[in-house]
Amino acid sequence: MFWQKEIELMDTDALRKFQLEHINKSIKTAKNSQFYKKQLDGIDKIDNLEGIKNLPFTTKEDLRNAFPYGFLATDLKNAVRLHSSSGTTGNPTVVFHTAEDISNWANLSARCMYTAGARNTDVFQNTMGYGLFTGGIGFHYGAEKLGMLTIPVGPGNSKRQVWFMQNFRTSVMHILPSYALRLYRTIEEMNINVKKDLNLKIAFIGAEPHSEEMRKKIEELYGIKAFNSYGLSEICGPGVAFECPCQNGLHVWEDFVYPEIVDPKTLEVLPDGREGELVFTTLQRQAMPLIRYRTRDLTRIISEKCSCGRNHRKIARITGRTDDMMIINGVNIFPIQIEKTIMAIPEAGKNYIIEIFEQNYMDKLCIKLEINNENFGGTLQDLEKLQHKLENELKQEIGVSPLIKFVDAGSLPVEEGKAKRVFDLRKK
Ligand code: AMP
Ligand code: ZN
Repeated sequence: MFWQKEIELMDTDALRKFQLEHINKSIKTAKNSQFYKKQLDGIDKIDNLEGIKNLPFTTKEDLRNAFPYGFLATDLKNAVRLHSSSGTTGNPTVVFHTAEDISNWANLSARCMYTAGARNTDVFQNTMGYGLFTGGIGFHYGAEKLGMLTIPVGPGNSKRQVWFMQNFRTSVMHILPSYALRLYRTIEEMNINVKKDLNLKIAFIGAEPHSEEMRKKIEELYGIKAFNSYGLSEICGPGVAFECPCQNGLHVWEDFVYPEIVDPKTLEVLPDGREGELVFTTLQRQAMPLIRYRTRDLTRIISEKCSCGRNHRKIARITGRTDDMMIINGVNIFPIQIEKTIMAIPEAGKNYIIEIFEQNYMDKLCIKLEINNENFGGTLQDLEKLQHKLENELKQEIGVSPLIKFVDAGSLPVEEGKAKRVFDLRKK
């Protein structure tokens, strides 16, 4: 059941002691970098975990401004890998690793996969992107460490994905949730019965926001268990937090990061259970420790003991990012609210986009949605009924009346990487 039993079963007191010790080690290492040398000037350690509140935060802008080498905390001779986050404006953020960082990260991702039930007898198909993006390579190293036969297919080319699945009896896949739904369409088009003709049992889904309803849809369609996998390249990549078989929250590996939840406006630390912005301090990173890094991801900490036995606290599914909130005529809406409503309606299709535009000085929210041919009757009346159902349920969830436009299956734009759902066409 456990990949690193002693660490995974550490009790809370031991974990807190370990964390205090390692936060102080991280402060020391971080001060070898140009950025933290200034930022942590006069600060050498904290005396207890409460003391973390007195340390300054680190933001994505700090990472950008310190481009290219401002966060490197080790000699270049010790740094072996660079990754970069998918930024759309300004300098990208870069992240460095030593060989030890890479090895720790591989163990961390092996721990996640083992927790979900993957074993060395499994065949693992990695459909995540390889390269500067950490999704593919992160779990690749973990999967090999775990001993799975690893197929580094990478993203896209759905027919080839299915070909590998069929011929090599793939049992575990690592996949973007949006791509899992698209891939299913290809499987159907190829007249393959996913439950009978393929051998899939487990999927690791993550790297992008998705709802519980979307997970359920993936589990039902494929007849598998899908585990939510959370990570970000600034901390390492996938492997930071992962669901155990209880599937009600993601264990944050607290020997690797110290999590906090803060109010994104006041930056006050919130108690476990309250929703706010997730903040991480790394505990073992050598090439690039981060102190109180503001992830912009919104969630809450679940501190109740998990029945799997692990004491590493869990976070709830990410509900949005501080920067993806849409304001429609003054009403705050997160895209995930729209997704969970759509996914709960069987006749609604699997792919959608959200467009926001201006009409007569008012904001308009339009949802373009594919129809699920299997569950849809097909008459004009049925279509109108479905439209009203969607309008009503969305109005209840988000407090705004959206326009619903149905489009043909397969006609919406698709990305090879993370899905882009929101298109804000308002004049800025
Ligand atoms: P990147 O560093 O480019 O891989 O992007 C990391 C970001 O992707 C995170 O900060 C989250 O906003 C998002 N993300 C990653 N995994 C998940 C997940 N399981 N659920 C929701 N959002 C996720
Ligand atoms: Zn658990």
